[in-house]
Amino acid sequence: MVKRNVLLNPGPATTTDTVKMAQVVPDICPREKEFVAVMREIEDGLLKIVHADPSVYTAVLFCGSGTINMDICLNSLLPQDKKILILNNGAYSSRAVEICEYYGLEHINLKFALNQPMDMGAVERALQENPDVALVYTTHNETGTGLLNPIREIGAIAHKYHAVFAVDTTSTYAMRPIDMQKDNIDFCMASAQKGIMAMTGLSFVIGNKAVIEASAEYPKRSYYCNLYMQYEYAKEHGEMHFTPPVQVIYATRQALKEYFEEGETAKWERHLGVFNAICDGLAGLGFRTYIPKEYSSGLVAAALYPDDENWDFIKIHDYCYERGFTIYPGKVEKMGMFRLCALGAITAKDIEDFFTVFEEALRKYNVAIPVKYK
Ligand SMILES: *Cc1c(COP(=O)(O)O)cnc(C)c1O
Repeated sequence: MVKRNVLLNPGPATTTDTVKMAQVVPDICPREKEFVAVMREIEDGLLKIVHADPSVYTAVLFCGSGTINMDICLNSLLPQDKKILILNNGAYSSRAVEICEYYGLEHINLKFALNQPMDMGAVERALQENPDVALVYTTHNETGTGLLNPIREIGAIAHKYHAVFAVDTTSTYAMRPIDMQKDNIDFCMASAQKGIMAMTGLSFVIGNKAVIEASAEYPKRSYYCNLYMQYEYAKEHGEMHFTPPVQVIYATRQALKEYFEEGETAKWERHLGVFNAICDGLAGLGFRTYIPKEYSSGLVAAALYPDDENWDFIKIHDYCYERGFTIYPGKVEKMGMFRLCALGAITAKDIEDFFTVFEEALRKYNVAIPVKYK
């Protein structure tokens, strides 16, 4: 048995023991047919999770953390003399802007408030005024705050103006139900350590094959991180161009099996149950959250630090960590907050147990309960 930790950070997530143990396999060269068959199984499963028709969409796998997907989509899907429109209301879309800056990609950084729904009128105006936008990009769940973006509406507007729609679904994929076609998504992305509850090191882009084929003619801006090259190689050889994360792939196969056993609806309800337990626990102690529940993805709660001289995040974190619960700092500049996330193989009961420990920590360090705000 491996010690079980309840990770309330926004990924990597708590995994099952069966997924952990699935990594222990005989040594194998990933160029063997046996391994290629495992890859194929994984690609099929990844498409199925987002109800993607394999005749229209494909899953392209990469070795790296989730940011590699963002890099790949942005640098590979921009035609010559066109622009990317980034709908930016959080840390992850800001990261996408930075990627554009690093590559020198023409882009519009359309900024919105971080704690309320995106202004769809502004999205439409930006597309009306910039007919050279070929790619619209945003984040589904801004993991820094838990703000949920209305991807179906954004995708519809992008398509109205003949732009491709790419969305970072790293922190919703395999948790909140997604349907590529109905949600008007051309490209989405995630990595194995979040929603599917496997290990870090495998990331994947799910996208429209016709668009990827067309991207063969777009400027090549990266060698290792090029979507078309990886797609083309996999199509030809059934495997990744460069060395895959072999053991993580086996863990992912097991995690997908467990995903389909639990089922899309039941899994989402479990995550939502965990999220509701988190919100109730925070409210019970008087904590305020950064965004109202109705704007939230149902996966991340960002709680504001109380105005109490005894509040010390590190001390509270360490107390909980020593007892098997990991909490995580916030990600909004100049604002003190911490996050509790509903990812992973955890249940509402784990959250009850967490709040027992968390409350003990507050009492030990003399933080007033209910917590105080000015
Ligand atoms: C976790 C996450 C990523 C990837 O982050 P890595 O640190 O590279 O794994 C990207 N986008 C979102 C929205 C995420 O939550």
